[in-house]
Amino acid sequence: MLTKLSTLYKTTSILLKANIVAGRPTNFIRMASSLIKDKAFVNGEWISAKSGATYNVTNPATGEVVGSVPDMGVADTEDAIQKAYKAYQTFKKTTAKERSEKLKKAYKLMMENKEELARIITLENGKPLAEANGEIMYGAGFCEWFAEEGRRVQGHVVASPFPTKKIFTLKQPIGVCAMITPWNFPNAMITRKACAAIAAGCTVVLKPAEDTPLSALAICEIFEQAGIPKGVFNVVTCDRGNAPSVGKLLCESPLVSLISFTGSSAVGKILMKQSADTVKKCSMELGGNAPFIVFDSADLDLAVKGAMSSKFRCTGQTCVCANRFLIQEGIYEKFVARLAEAMDKELKVGNGLTQGTTQGPLINKRAADKVATFVEDAKSKGANVVRGGQRSDVGESFYEPTLLSNVTSGMLVSKEEIFGPVAGVAKFKSEEEAIALANGTSAGLAGYLYTGDCAQQWRVAEALEYGIVGVNEGLFSTPEAPFGGFKESGLGREGGIGFGIEEYLEVKYMCLGGM
Ligand code: ADP
Repeated sequence: MLTKLSTLYKTTSILLKANIVAGRPTNFIRMASSLIKDKAFVNGEWISAKSGATYNVTNPATGEVVGSVPDMGVADTEDAIQKAYKAYQTFKKTTAKERSEKLKKAYKLMMENKEELARIITLENGKPLAEANGEIMYGAGFCEWFAEEGRRVQGHVVASPFPTKKIFTLKQPIGVCAMITPWNFPNAMITRKACAAIAAGCTVVLKPAEDTPLSALAICEIFEQAGIPKGVFNVVTCDRGNAPSVGKLLCESPLVSLISFTGSSAVGKILMKQSADTVKKCSMELGGNAPFIVFDSADLDLAVKGAMSSKFRCTGQTCVCANRFLIQEGIYEKFVARLAEAMDKELKVGNGLTQGTTQGPLINKRAADKVATFVEDAKSKGANVVRGGQRSDVGESFYEPTLLSNVTSGMLVSKEEIFGPVAGVAKFKSEEEAIALANGTSAGLAGYLYTGDCAQQWRVAEALEYGIVGVNEGLFSTPEAPFGGFKESGLGREGGIGFGIEEYLEVKYMCLGGM
């Protein structure tokens, strides 16, 4: 089966490679690859919306239509929930080893089809192919990781205080899991949730982001080929207009036991409120406002390297992207100059399918408009534009990589998540001031600090109210480590030893009497 899939794509790959080498973007893949679907996937079948409605998926770099998928609604979602509930009745009885084998196969298939899956990401999300390839490896890594984690789920035999009673704990799958995922990692944000759920013995109804449904549907094909039984992984696609009603049903359905969401804090709060009536377990990965602190003693090369990867990956559209650069006064001027130099040297704006591009478009024009508003706000409040500061002429969804100095905490770029290629730099004097500035937000996902002082590394890392802290490091995401936030950045953790899979398990206390 692995070979068969590879052969199918061979012709397409050759065409694409030729075009990319010549520096020309191409959309040929959309016609030729069987990983690009135009139907939703429920109970092992490729289906249309009951209404027959569809919507177009566009390439944010060019505005071209790259696919069309069903625009489903409440009735379609109810049906998917019923199917997932039915499938759960048998899937929960499968062994962890059986589920693990299927997830391992999914990992292999994903790696074998890495290039095709990466191209689908670039087509619908816009990120450069190299980054998209990296995302597939990261995303496939969750198939592998949870294949292993699932086999190590354990209960306990507890020392009983009663001579006639024995005490046990069992871990059991929680049930049908609803998932709503974002567009910035159209593959990995799905596998990070779904593979944990499947490894635990749960079934899934997933609504992917409207901008990037094709990657979700490609995962359905991979899972099907891997032998994951029908009804276990279901994907309901819909446009933005139907997202609130579909989301509401997923939260309110008594057949759904958990809602897992990655996206904005605003939507996360809506979902949590809607889940209250059924006392649903909520697993939330919400927005960040990451501080990136550089102390005078820092290794400047390391700090600039970390700043570049943390700020400009995915054109600044990740929830762990550095959002506020807080630089100590002694190193401030040098840091700004070196960051500007690195931006000139390393950043190339363009179509993600064109070789050499490092900065793709933002996800849509609305996102570029928001970034423009933030930069104008900063300029009007006294920020200096060191680089960029305007829309790019490459296309309507593009914004120039921008460096702003003299940024203050009253500006939108400091208060809100930028989600774009804009680095705003502010100056601080003391460690206490840096910690206060860094923690002065309701978000608490990721934070970064750079210092050569070992005691300061530990002290400040502990003081930061963030779920993830990069110390002299700008890239940290990996299946082995727990991902999640403090404060309004979320609830629960994804990945990591024990953490990610626990979200999808219930603990049962069993008391055996009459001994
Ligand atoms: P963004 O604005 O960057 O798209 P969102 O948090 O709005 O971030 O979107 C993340 C996901 O949440 C997407 O799948 C989107 O369709 C979904 N979504 C948006 N609004 C709602 C809602 N009211 N109910 C359920 N899902 C929603």
